[in-house]
Amino acid sequence: MRTQQTDLVIAGARIFDGRSDRAAENQAVWMSGGRIRRVGPAVDVLREATATESPRIVEANGDTVVPGLVNMHVHLDLALPGDLARVAMLNEAELALHMAEEARLTLLAGVTTVRLTGTYNHVDFSLRNSIEAGRTLGPRIRTAGQLVCSTGGHGWQRSLEADGPAEFARAVREQIKHGADFIKLALSGGMAGEHEKVTTSQLREDELDAVLEVAHAWGRKVTTHAGPAGPTLEAVRRGIDCVEHGYELTDELCRLMIERDVTYVPTITVTRCREFFERHNMPRWMQDRALAWGDRHWESLENAIRHGVTIAMGSDMPPHAEFDGTSATVRELEFMVEAGMTPQAALVAATSTGARWLGLEEEIGCVREGAYADLLLVQGDPLADISAMRDLRMVVKDGNPVLDQQP
Ligand SMILES: [Zn+2]
Repeated sequence: MRTQQTDLVIAGARIFDGRSDRAAENQAVWMSGGRIRRVGPAVDVLREATATESPRIVEANGDTVVPGLVNMHVHLDLALPGDLARVAMLNEAELALHMAEEARLTLLAGVTTVRLTGTYNHVDFSLRNSIEAGRTLGPRIRTAGQLVCSTGGHGWQRSLEADGPAEFARAVREQIKHGADFIKLALSGGMAGEHEKVTTSQLREDELDAVLEVAHAWGRKVTTHAGPAGPTLEAVRRGIDCVEHGYELTDELCRLMIERDVTYVPTITVTRCREFFERHNMPRWMQDRALAWGDRHWESLENAIRHGVTIAMGSDMPPHAEFDGTSATVRELEFMVEAGMTPQAALVAATSTGARWLGLEEEIGCVREGAYADLLLVQGDPLADISAMRDLRMVVKDGNPVLDQQP
């Protein structure tokens, strides 16, 4: 993103900083040079900002500033059976353009950082670099490169297949060579694989160990697509850093995840988005399988919340995809609250928790001095009603208002 030109002050706002128990009232945030320069009582910040600069001042009128959202499970090249199968037919140039447009829409939906959990053929690295250089409009990207799976394993069509510890070690090194920020594995079957069940175990323990050893030696975390309880428990025991979906989180698994400080990204929308499936003409077998897992998946999320597992927000569906009258990202937050989280906890999951997993807790997912000026102005109070996140007045990235809907 280009460096912010004009200083920006959002004044008269309730500010939620991404981690505190409550928001602070009647605050202002001053953004300068792409960073947050000052946060504090509106009168003080305004006085300081106008004493030396001529900032643009946006009057929040009691609306709420929250950190830009961090969506921890995203595929900008999502290709699924049905209409989205066309994405798999794009050549690399077309795919890059497609992903750039998805990135732009994602940012406009209030998601200022994405963690890409598996992308075809390294297009993600070019896109990440182009966004960082300010040539393409999109969220900050942290990416795994290609998903690593066993031959014929979950998502094999767009992933790097490996068999045996030596090949898995090489697959991990291959991703790191191209610039992977972390590693994404497929431990078991999932919703979109025709020849597998959600419960199919797809990784041998020596393969898993090889991945963890190499990735950790290079300072990269490892997350895994995870369905059944047994293999997921084994992965947590062996040192995995994050669990995606977790369709079968048992009490034992939740306890172990807490003990080992493993983060859970539920992507709960994937088992309850009939509308999205139908709009994209997904085949009946896939819809049935996904929706049939709805109850068990929901119990997993409730279980994780009850035990106090660290939860980060991820949608798996395109973050901006229209779903129940809002975006998949905001709907995911609403589901998290319906499953038992407070709105405050859901917002923490969607901001500072993801930032911490990515090692970016000082830079993003917060509203604090010195951090990147990535934030949202939302109408009303999302800490009282999470659905306030549906009404975005502003999306600011690097101090630049990329969405600006002032009354
Ligand atoms: Zn995924």
